[in-house]
Amino acid sequence: MTVMPELPEVENICRGLTDTVVGSMVNRVTIRRVDIVRGSSRPADLLRGQTFTRIDRLGKQFALIGQTLVHKGSLNKEACVCLHLGMTGSLRFYPPGEPYRPDGHTHVVWHLTDGGRLAFRDPRRFGGLWTFDSVTTLTETRWSKLGEDALTITPARLHMKLKRTRRPIKSALLDQATLAGLGNIYVDELLFGCRLHPLYPGHEVTREETQLLVRKMRALLTRAIALGGSTLKDYVDTSGRSGGFQRVHKVYGRSGQACPRCGLPLVRIAVAGRTTVFCEDCQASVMSRSERVAKDY
Ligand SMILES: [Zn+2]
Repeated sequence: MTVMPELPEVENICRGLTDTVVGSMVNRVTIRRVDIVRGSSRPADLLRGQTFTRIDRLGKQFALIGQTLVHKGSLNKEACVCLHLGMTGSLRFYPPGEPYRPDGHTHVVWHLTDGGRLAFRDPRRFGGLWTFDSVTTLTETRWSKLGEDALTITPARLHMKLKRTRRPIKSALLDQATLAGLGNIYVDELLFGCRLHPLYPGHEVTREETQLLVRKMRALLTRAIALGGSTLKDYVDTSGRSGGFQRVHKVYGRSGQACPRCGLPLVRIAVAGRTTVFCEDCQASVMSRSERVAKDY
């Protein structure tokens, strides 16, 4: 089973980092595996000598932002490291004094001046780090290829994107250039919540359906963030804790089980090469509008 951290899991990591490392200075950086770093892999470009000032996130990617303290109290010379966790990546914070043992999968370690450590570990190495000389460079290059963030996109903007594609709505929502942040788990849960068939063509989704989609998407993501994200296999937050949202999944991973709404067995198909679980009865929107009207009345 391949499961990637999605927006709620990454948002939890960002919140964990904001609470632990923001304000701390990087004393030195150990790069144990150079090819995990794209761009410059000099320790200075991985924020050595800099103070973490904030964490930015777009979709499933996030960035550690650092600045150099030049004169007492004044910060400048900003740089940033963008991270993508891939499938098995994690970023753990070890407070000063906590035992820490890097293994063969620990690729980069930031040693903080207060004794804390931040370790990037990724056994399967589908994730990675990208270094940038400024946040502007990151947003104008790597992040310019991503769509708007799933937590902040407006219904009008999403409707405009969906109108341009004849692909199934599931494929469109998974496409990070359309919308950044959703993966297989949350798209299946969202389409079930909106009663939309995963094969419903993007350009047929109405303005009203898009409004519902955005409202349900915000509610779903907000709830998942509050529950600490979904842990199916590898995901842990910056303190090593698993998430709890997987316990309330309604359709994801439940093919053959009863639909929580109507009781019929949930079915499994492949869309965009991804396993897709849905209820054929509750999510019948792939039918033509006239058929749906006939069914409803
Ligand atoms: Zn159903």
